[in-house]
Amino acid sequence: SAAIIATDVHKWYGNHFHVLRGVSLSVKQGEVVVIMGPSGSGKSTFIRTFNALEEFQQGSIIIDGINLSHDLKNIEEIRREVGMVFQQFNLFPHLTILQNVTLAPIWVRRWPKAKAEEVALQLLERVGILEQAKKFPGQLSGGQQQRVAIARALAMQPKIMLFDEPTSALDPEMVREVLDVMRTLASEGMTMVCVTHEVGFAREVADRVVLMSDGVLVEEGTPEVFFSNP
Ligand code: ADP
Ligand code: ADP
Repeated sequence: SAAIIATDVHKWYGNHFHVLRGVSLSVKQGEVVVIMGPSGSGKSTFIRTFNALEEFQQGSIIIDGINLSHDLKNIEEIRREVGMVFQQFNLFPHLTILQNVTLAPIWVRRWPKAKAEEVALQLLERVGILEQAKKFPGQLSGGQQQRVAIARALAMQPKIMLFDEPTSALDPEMVREVLDVMRTLASEGMTMVCVTHEVGFAREVADRVVLMSDGVLVEEGTPEVFFSNP
């Protein structure tokens, strides 16, 4: 069944800049879709509509059966379903790693602190950051911070994970450790939409690759088909 059904989505920035020009994409449960395309083509804007970080003016988006209306009425419900990881890790610098991961479960999901910490520590172990739980983000490498950001998103137990160029701000030697976490998530059946330029990841992990250009999806296929240029 479909986790995401985006149909003919249009968005303008201001009155004039038509950034999304009728984009349609369906993502099945458990599917991993990679969105590629030139900088400025609207990839980030498009996936940000999936969790209501961006409004859109025409078309429809249904996330796990919830209609994301244009007036963003369902925003809280949607954000619980959809986790997001950004290029810049967006951790709270004055909170420890553990506090970063437990913040939303405690304040949004109203979990008791002990339960939130138990879950957070399991997640930090999964992403290989358990030893750093009491440190602050500034004491971690970029690759470690991004793994914390993934753990933080997973702590809300989302059904869908969005990744917006998660490795673009990282030194090359740290890219692999983040991609490995994403690969594991994919193999566990997480529904994922990833904007990334990592061709290796797209080839090996994506079920489908779509190419965006100038606010429309211009091509799509399995990695085998997509990367087999004549
Ligand atoms: P991509 O992710 O493919 O690089 P983006 O979705 O970030 O593309 O941006 C698409 C276009 O929209 C770019 O030309 C960008 O400058 C523009 N844009 C992004 N955010 C805004 C904004 N808040 N206001 C106006 N224009 C924006
Ligand atoms: P990315 O392409 O990684 O999504 P950008 O560097 O394009 O990020 O944009 C960074 C921030 O600036 C985003 O919040 C985006 O919405 C905003 N932005 C980008 N382009 C414009 C623009 N032309 N006018 C206003 N805000 C913009």
